Amino acid sequence: MEKYMQCIDCGEKWTEQPIWRCPKCDGLLEIKFKLSAGDFDLKKARKQRLNLWRYADLIPAKKNVSLNEGGTPLYECKNLCGELKVKLFVKNEGANPTGSFKDRGMTVGVSKAIEFGKKITTCASTGNTSASLAAYSARGNLKCVVFIPSGKIAYGKLAQALIFGAKVISIEGNFDKALEIVFKISNGEGIYLLNSINPYRLEGQKTIGFEIFDELNHTPDRVILPVGNAGNISAIWKGFKEFYELGIAGEKPKMTGIQSEGSKPIVNMFKNKKEYIPEKNPETIATAIRIGNPVSWKKAINAVYESNGYMESVSDEEILKAQKLLSRKEGIFVEPASASSIAGLIKLIDKGIIDKGEEIVCITTGNGLKDPNTVVDSCKNEIIYAKEEDVENLIKKL
Ligand SMILES: [Zn+2]
Repeated sequence: MEKYMQCIDCGEKWTEQPIWRCPKCDGLLEIKFKLSAGDFDLKKARKQRLNLWRYADLIPAKKNVSLNEGGTPLYECKNLCGELKVKLFVKNEGANPTGSFKDRGMTVGVSKAIEFGKKITTCASTGNTSASLAAYSARGNLKCVVFIPSGKIAYGKLAQALIFGAKVISIEGNFDKALEIVFKISNGEGIYLLNSINPYRLEGQKTIGFEIFDELNHTPDRVILPVGNAGNISAIWKGFKEFYELGIAGEKPKMTGIQSEGSKPIVNMFKNKKEYIPEKNPETIATAIRIGNPVSWKKAINAVYESNGYMESVSDEEILKAQKLLSRKEGIFVEPASASSIAGLIKLIDKGIIDKGEEIVCITTGNGLKDPNTVVDSCKNEIIYAKEEDVENLIKKL
């Protein structure tokens, strides 16, 4: 199957090489396949276990590094379905090896780094990307340097980056500042940038779309997910589009992205029909989407427009409420940024944007244990302090 890199702005085609912006116009690049019906046999692929490499024929890398990523559970949320009057599924990406969807991008991205002969990997990260890159680099025997915003990273994620042996550099400033620094150092020979601007990352992440179709055996009406650096929404959209082009799927879903109130440049652009203006001081409890200048904003807004989707923002309060709701109604514990997809769903139902009866898949991007401090802070008033003699009475009141 013919494949190449293509600029999303000027359309120039490039042979595969370790670059992430168009040398001609600086636009974002994506990997293109010439697909036609019959190029991929899903029936045959289904003989292999459900994980990312089941779709190896549609992934532009050899499997050099893997921790068995993908194959995450798609839960039907029967308790919430009744309450919200929609058919809701949650695709729990927190079940990946390092606890977030980033592992899908890293198995492909780090495999590609090895293919390109790179010795050092790097990224800027709010936490999950660094945890994942550190793990895959360790397994691939590559050195890894990660840049994190000082004081604004969830503890579980920092612990992962450290234990996997990455060089962790804490930068004064926010994620956007850390990303600027990474761009500067990745121009060197041996250092390979693995933020989501790297188009190979998105090639791994598109398998979320493949898996949703594969498991449901049809396309859902809508997919809702948190938007941080904005790569994932276009990646999943690409997955659905490829299955459509291959003649496997007959439809495509509406892609719906959720940002936080304190950091919503793409929502502003979508709602005000204005040009893109980055948010200078992003602020939210959901650290994974605390990004004011999402590098893949253009790919994200294209995915929303092309799919007839929507962009919405939610407050920290709505996020924490949704996190509790999903845990207590369905037994699914996700980090705050992930819960924004549920918070967004509730808001869009209230606003009448989502119709009753729609079939919806919410992507929860990271495991709740990544950020235990936020949960303990929001739930600590629920702890009951009691003496032994009080216990019997307390149980009666349950
Ligand atoms: Zn270009």
